Amino acid sequence: MKNRNRLIEPARLALVLILSQGLAMNAVAHGTGDGSSTASTKTKKPPRCRIYTADRVFDGFELLSDAAVLVKKDKIAEVGTFDELKKQCSKRKHLGDATLMPGFIESHAHLTFQNVNSDIVLKHGITTVRDTGGPLLAPFGGEGQLRILSAGPIIQAPGGYPLNVFGGGSGGYDQIGIPVGTVQEAEEVVQQLADGGAAVIKIALEPGGESGAPWMEPHGDQPVPATPWPLLSLETVQAIVAKAHALGKRVTAHIGENTGAQLALEGQVDEWAHTPCAAIDEDLLQQAVDQGVKVVTTIDTLGSCSGIYDNVRKLAGMMALASDTGSEFIYGSEIGHDNVPWGVNGQEMHLMLHLTSGDGIDAADVLNVFKAATSGAGENLGIDKLGTLTPNAPADLIAVKGNPFERFKLLEYPDLVVSGGRIVVNNFKK
Ligand SMILES: [Zn+2]
Repeated sequence: MKNRNRLIEPARLALVLILSQGLAMNAVAHGTGDGSSTASTKTKKPPRCRIYTADRVFDGFELLSDAAVLVKKDKIAEVGTFDELKKQCSKRKHLGDATLMPGFIESHAHLTFQNVNSDIVLKHGITTVRDTGGPLLAPFGGEGQLRILSAGPIIQAPGGYPLNVFGGGSGGYDQIGIPVGTVQEAEEVVQQLADGGAAVIKIALEPGGESGAPWMEPHGDQPVPATPWPLLSLETVQAIVAKAHALGKRVTAHIGENTGAQLALEGQVDEWAHTPCAAIDEDLLQQAVDQGVKVVTTIDTLGSCSGIYDNVRKLAGMMALASDTGSEFIYGSEIGHDNVPWGVNGQEMHLMLHLTSGDGIDAADVLNVFKAATSGAGENLGIDKLGTLTPNAPADLIAVKGNPFERFKLLEYPDLVVSGGRIVVNNFKK
């Protein structure tokens, strides 16, 4: 990439630490689960080419000034200066005092299960969602529609979480959970999920009992089931992970406390779908970092949990000292929970920044938050170049007027949204 010499130092970070304890009660709406989240049917072709310029361009890795992005049809072609690119295309969009960047990736959501309108999510800056628990769907979107990748139902123990809290009867591929009683059943379910287009295999290792956890709140007129809830055996977890890996799928685990964390670690699970709610023993956190576990943040929605802030702080410190393991945070906000917005969540980014930055915030800390929602998330999803502005990346772009590196909130209301080269939102006049 050119122009790396024109990095911006976001020197005056006007981000104010307000660690709201958040009244995260009633966190999970109880949707009807009929899978009828709407999706637009826009399929118009993208233009042959278009050049976007902006005072600030974040390419998924670094913040560039006065850069231009050449889009050809539904792909990024090149990033450079306007002078370098202008001969290649006569169609231009000059955004001026604005910041242009890849569309954000939400790595923990329940759109389908909670009937969240995908067009609203797209218009609020998220161009790709990973739906981590709900009806199994093959990947779709990305051409003027929200790109949705699905985990399908969460593999769980019979009688356990999430079906015991959220309903769904005996579970199935159209429900929030699917119970497995034996290793053989578990392997068959992983195969079915992979055959149905699951982007990731999700398991639940949740015995319940964490104070402040949304799953410990009553849902509808159902009381919280008595704890501890049954868990998958280690043998079953290991079989799920082995089968998933053999099929080229990664495994993410819902965990919230030590028992689940330990099972996930011994089972070689690739990712934690949440930062755990209850305080986790430091040796387990260190083991997670040493094993290269990715941790999806979901800090905002779990803000009432007693251990979550400390878990983030400790993990961040350990990740910084062992960056070669690949362990890192991935942005996830739990779209579908009633205490988070249907789109980019500025408060999630705010909490990520302040809890992961250690002593004092610098420009690299801010960049890391953006990477966790763009290039880092795309790599974690295994989709080539997704979340970056590099040649052949999907042309998923957002822009806001002003500088969101100084004010994350702007990202919740983008002034430009482009999905697969098609403009979905445009508040710029020319
Ligand atoms: Zn969730």
